[in-house]
Amino acid sequence: MPTKPTATPRASRSRTPRADAPAGLASAQAQEIGARLEPWFLAHHRDLSWRRTRDPYAIWVSEIMLQQTRVETVERHWAGFLARFPDVATLAAADGDEVLSAWSGLGYYRRARLLHAGAKVVAAELGARLPEDAAGLRRIPGIGPYTAGAIASIAYDRPEPLVDGNVARVLSRVEAVSDPKQQDATAKWLWSACEQILRSGTPRVLGQALMELGATVCTPRAPRCEACPLAASCRARQRGLTDIIPAVRERAASKLERWWAVALLRDDAILLERRPDEGLLARMWCLPLLPRDDGDTAPTASALRPIVRGRVGGLRTVGEPVVHIFTHRRWELQVVVAAAGATVLPRGDDAATVWLAPSQRPTGGVPTLTRKLLARVGGEGGDARPRRGQVKV
Ligand code: SF4
Repeated sequence: MPTKPTATPRASRSRTPRADAPAGLASAQAQEIGARLEPWFLAHHRDLSWRRTRDPYAIWVSEIMLQQTRVETVERHWAGFLARFPDVATLAAADGDEVLSAWSGLGYYRRARLLHAGAKVVAAELGARLPEDAAGLRRIPGIGPYTAGAIASIAYDRPEPLVDGNVARVLSRVEAVSDPKQQDATAKWLWSACEQILRSGTPRVLGQALMELGATVCTPRAPRCEACPLAASCRARQRGLTDIIPAVRERAASKLERWWAVALLRDDAILLERRPDEGLLARMWCLPLLPRDDGDTAPTASALRPIVRGRVGGLRTVGEPVVHIFTHRRWELQVVVAAAGATVLPRGDDAATVWLAPSQRPTGGVPTLTRKLLARVGGEGGDARPRRGQVKV
């Protein structure tokens, strides 16, 4: 049901937000929000692939993929992943590298490892069937409060709340709550309010409706209040506070780390190394990385000693450093190319290396960072052919 635009009586209202949080919503208010949201969602929702299924496993996969990843990216990978691992039992029985390989392009590979670990628990201990309630779902590795609520409400139509950043923003604005702590998706009142709304109608529809409203209408910047089904009762809109709720939070500066990314070439092949089991890009394939000091602009022969012995040819840097941003870290990687006639040294007990021809790819995850580095080696000003002369390392 289309909602008529409602005038914003800003001039007659105070611009004072409330810093305290409500206990939840008044019953009548929750009913009204539910009554407005449900028809709006049915008429205006995006037709996303995972919205055409009620399979709890498929919804679980979609929710994990959607964490910190754009909808368009998930649309490109969700169906392919399910074709390869169509049910919990198949995923549980799969090799870890195969799962990481299928996750390539989605990033944040820790999610894939946790999904795989969770599938093993569901297959081994729960008869390959996901529990229906949020409490049971939360006992599975990788399923937190939000994902548990999403699976229970969407797949099983239970009034289990789900509060992510989108839902928190919508409810904070509806109630004009400006305290950043109370706008946080972990704030108790948000979970109470969400549950009240889900209980007012069809949980499966209302949970998705709150998320959809936050993603498409009640956006962080410039919300489209004129198209919002909650405009008539939204306190942030009434008081002209939509630009300051949610409050901008100060973030800690991300730590900068510098690396040499070493592209060792032999004939047409390039060496990739599997990263350690723990830490960033765990078990992903990458160029060997070596620490680089601030101000180092050219590699020295001794810098390569941890990975090669003997003579390497044409040691040189390629292009500008590649910058890669993680949640709390910023990596600056200077690509170094060398022709390896030398011995390559394994690093660590579980180290693995592979020589890859241009058309090959390794079994396992290849993160976006590796693709960026390989692009720098093969293009973007990177003529990767070894040059004359050799350096002893
Ligand atoms: S009226 Fe505007 S601020 Fe309020 S919930 Fe709707 S889109 Fe968000």
